Amino acid sequence: MRAVVIEQYGSRPDVREVPDPRPADHGVVVRVEATGLCRSDWHGWQGHDPDITLPHVPGHELAGVVEAVGATVTAWRPGDRVTVPFVCACGSCAACAAGDQQVCERQTQPGFTHWGSFAQYVALDHADVNLVAVPQELSFATAAALGCRFATAFRAVVQQGRVAAGEWVAVHGCGGVGLSAVMIAAASGARVIAVDVSPQALDLARKFGAAECVDATRTPDTAAAIRELSGGGARLSLDALGSPATCAASVNGLRRRGRHVQVGLLPSPTGTTPVPMARAIALELELLGSHGMAAHTYPPMLELVGAGVLRPDLLVTSTITLDATPDALAAMGTAPGAGVTVIEPWS
Ligand SMILES: [Zn+2]
Ligand SMILES: [Zn+2]
Repeated sequence: MRAVVIEQYGSRPDVREVPDPRPADHGVVVRVEATGLCRSDWHGWQGHDPDITLPHVPGHELAGVVEAVGATVTAWRPGDRVTVPFVCACGSCAACAAGDQQVCERQTQPGFTHWGSFAQYVALDHADVNLVAVPQELSFATAAALGCRFATAFRAVVQQGRVAAGEWVAVHGCGGVGLSAVMIAAASGARVIAVDVSPQALDLARKFGAAECVDATRTPDTAAAIRELSGGGARLSLDALGSPATCAASVNGLRRRGRHVQVGLLPSPTGTTPVPMARAIALELELLGSHGMAAHTYPPMLELVGAGVLRPDLLVTSTITLDATPDALAAMGTAPGAGVTVIEPWS
């Protein structure tokens, strides 16, 4: 099969032939019909992810068709249309037993812990626990965005953030996760303030339901702007970008008893990020992490997608080939861009 192969961190990946994967007994091989290009792929390529060993094939938000099935898999067969959360759970640890597969103790992540979906085929573990059926009416390109960004945003806004109609919600960073969060919060009846440095991203945020937009290039203190616009601060605020500055702005833009959800990854040389904890204490803020979404919690989200309340299809702004992927990956470092780029490995 053809795949995008990273030989050295930060050096341009190759697109070349590699051996086809085989399914584990508990796993499947999926023919990749669409796979999203995500900022975490860029972090992985830069060497920010300790799970990655070289050479490596990235790619973790995918949809496709089951090609081969391991001996002990019972729920899936070749030809099934599927997607998968980027956190693939083991199905048997204490976290999995509690229904919290998104924080599984023995999780695997395609594109991080093993070769991912910037390829024509990908192997996925524990298929009975992790695969999600993709309805016929949902395109592969749209379904690909569910696995990482849209599901991640859904968990951050709905499950962890406990969004409620009428409350002010701030979203810092309007890339794939942020725009998804804007759409999901707005569809939940919240009044959304979107923050980004890109006018195009803010245009999309407005289109997806943001009531207010803050251009961070012209607003040095975005937290103050949010407190002003919302009459005292947001009730729920997400750092969907993942940087010390956006994390702090998210916490500082909350009102009393507000909820901060950290959903953007925060890699740093020391492994820690400063957070305004004095404010968290004084205002009794809740600081929450959000990490993917368990496969078994997809149905309520898929129902809203099927009913047209949520429109992940609108997030897909471009479709590219495997050969165009190295350049697109490199471009994410300087211009994260607005919307979602989807790779079609067979085009
Ligand atoms: Zn991702
Ligand atoms: Zn587990």
